[in-house]
Amino acid sequence: MEKELKCEDLNVKDCDFVVRGDTPKDVIEQAVEHLREEHDISLPDAQRILDGKGIEHLEDQARLVAQRIREALDIKSEADTPGAGPGEPPPNVTPGRP
Ligand SMILES: [Zn+2]
Repeated sequence: MEKELKCEDLNVKDCDFVVRGDTPKDVIEQAVEHLREEHDISLPDAQRILDGKGIEHLEDQARLVAQRIREALDIKSEADTPGAGPGEPPPNVTPGRP
């Protein structure tokens, strides 16, 4: 399914740039290049944005844009929900005996 991302979605004002691609990574790669060249926002590479690893350590602007890219493309990763990854069973609750 084709993905689409608009600069407007990233809260970048006065830009009607729209990027389309077959995969989220494809879209992110083009968006990263556009943001760097046109808006002077430098982002990590597409794979890191996809993984969501380390984006919380970016500068405010880059972090917000990276997070918005992930939201706009509906990217979910374990990094969003630390401690709730698969294979982690909920703690057992053993009823206490009187
Ligand atoms: Zn733009």
